[in-house]
Amino acid sequence: MGDGEDVSNVLIICEAILVRSKGRHYSKYMQNEKGRFPCPKCTCSYKQKTHLIRHLNYECGVEPRFTCMHCGKKFKQKSNYQTHLRFLHSYPV
Ligand SMILES: [Zn+2]
Ligand SMILES: [Zn+2]
Repeated sequence: MGDGEDVSNVLIICEAILVRSKGRHYSKYMQNEKGRFPCPKCTCSYKQKTHLIRHLNYECGVEPRFTCMHCGKKFKQKSNYQTHLRFLHSYPV
């Protein structure tokens, strides 16, 4: 009657694999002692992990995609570019 034991062993192994892979996924971005998520590539840190991921995807090491048509200043985010236009070039955005 060793069949039952075999099945439970397999289940335990599967759970261990799941937990291990989950742990690896979540430990990719760790909170520091201040409860923030520091960027692994630069000095930025964020309160929320989603903000860090957005930073990594759209800001960190990414070439600026918006160039001001008036002064040539470069921006990584459209919102920053719009703010710049509004305040420095009196644009009604
Ligand atoms: Zn960064
Ligand atoms: Zn400008």
